[in-house]
Amino acid sequence: MSDAGPEADDGIRLSQRLVALHIGGMLVLVFAVLSSILWVSREHNRLAVESSQDLVRGGISAFRLRLRTLVRDYSIWDEAYQAIEVDDRPWLYSNIGSAAAEIGTLDMIEFVDPLSRESFGWHAGSPPEGEPGLLPPDLLETILALLGRDPSEEGVAKTILAKLDGEIWAFSVARVTPVNGPPEGVAVDELPLQIHGMRLNDARLRQIGAPLMLSGFRLAERPLADSASIPLLDHQGQVISYVVWTPPTPGARILKQVAVPLVIALLTVATISGISARHVSRSARRLERALRDAQAADHSKTEFLSNVSHELRTPMNGILGVAQLLETTPLDAEQQELLAMLFTSANAQMALISDLLDFSRIESGNRQLALAPFRPAAQLRDVVDMIRVAADGKGIRLDGDWTEIDGVEVIGDGKAFRQVVTNLVSNAVKFTSVGHVEVTAGLRADGPLTSIVVRVSDTGRGIPPEALGRIFDRFYQADSSMTRSAEGTGLGLAISQSLAFMMDGRIEVESELGRGSTFVFAAPFEVVAEPGGARHAA
Ligand code: ADP
Repeated sequence: MSDAGPEADDGIRLSQRLVALHIGGMLVLVFAVLSSILWVSREHNRLAVESSQDLVRGGISAFRLRLRTLVRDYSIWDEAYQAIEVDDRPWLYSNIGSAAAEIGTLDMIEFVDPLSRESFGWHAGSPPEGEPGLLPPDLLETILALLGRDPSEEGVAKTILAKLDGEIWAFSVARVTPVNGPPEGVAVDELPLQIHGMRLNDARLRQIGAPLMLSGFRLAERPLADSASIPLLDHQGQVISYVVWTPPTPGARILKQVAVPLVIALLTVATISGISARHVSRSARRLERALRDAQAADHSKTEFLSNVSHELRTPMNGILGVAQLLETTPLDAEQQELLAMLFTSANAQMALISDLLDFSRIESGNRQLALAPFRPAAQLRDVVDMIRVAADGKGIRLDGDWTEIDGVEVIGDGKAFRQVVTNLVSNAVKFTSVGHVEVTAGLRADGPLTSIVVRVSDTGRGIPPEALGRIFDRFYQADSSMTRSAEGTGLGLAISQSLAFMMDGRIEVESELGRGSTFVFAAPFEVVAEPGGARHAA
């Protein structure tokens, strides 16, 4: 039962891991779903803000283009050129000024003499005869410099934005030219100049924003949190203001729409997952409880066995002691025969008890290896000599050859080594009625260590193939009727194999029914004295 311990422990660990995996998987799923939905909605919002920024930039460009087109339309005009030539300001105001006022977009018109840089202008509220130039000289120079950049061609920005009296303005400039070009003797750069100005105020911004279907359009000193914005730059690239608006939030709308079904779906999955995790953990707990009970039962059984064996040994020692004392007294032939029988039975009983005790010690983990130097050849010799009495008694030969390990000294548990070999050799003699038993030993390199390989072959009854796999099980006997007569507990090989495992070794068997068996015991040791001895044949 204790063999099953580690596997059942693995089972519990596996089911605990399954539960953890379940919960972990669920959390990962919830996290993955929520974060991807949030990511998608954020991404939607970001893209929407970006595209609304493009739209607004386009709207502002269109506004500037309209101003430029307007100033060009009003500049190629024979009558206007004539009126400037003769300084007919009332004509200019009534024709250009009022026309512009009708359009409702122009806020300022300024005429400039290119040579003197003198200007006069008109804006909403000016008297009919106009008034002197409205633009400060430096701004005027900046605007006129626009023409210098590209005096004739279209396609270059000829509109600038500037701050004037705390307001944002757009200005554009063109030369006032007769339809058929400059008159004879007048150079292009002597043509009078005309500047158009438009305020870019909140009202006008709303007009720009309306077709873009964006709300909250206005100017601001700086970008605002929770608002989308683009900067307005003057001709030097300096930010003079920001256009801000309420950003579109399609992602947030999507989030709102999917929130309810998503939460329901996640709750459903979590519930199902929770129920199955509960089942798994309950089964794990049940398994654990069963295992603990089994281990406790196994432990108390082993303890019981150990106690009983111990208790049995004490009176047996008494019986043997008394028998030995009896042996020293004068006995007649019959009494001696009875005493011999007593010895045989008592010794068999002692062997059984010590097997049980050994077995229970190994099972409970109380049997530890005691490491010390020992000579395996000497152990083999002792064992073979000891068992030879029994072999002789049965009339079978017992041969040994351990020349190869003569003189070898290793570090290990000599007692355990001896116990394994004793069991194998005594089994060989026990289960052989005709022929011989041969014990050989050799060395085999095993990494940094050296294995001692002991081979015990016999010409005995052999083991049926179906029993071969089970002879190392405790209390197993291949043929119980026969073994009982040959004595035994079915524990010898179980103990031997356990000891071999403790020594990192193992016992293997080959057998042919009716022809004999060969048991090979190999275990690795640290060698402290190398071989060097003569051939030994018993
Ligand atoms: P026991 O010898 O006390 O019955 P063991 O554990 O030593 O118990 O052996 C288990 C069984 O394996 C034996 O009962 C016997 O059937 C079989 N067995 C062991 N060694 C031999 C052998 N050398 N030849 C034939 N059968 C063997």
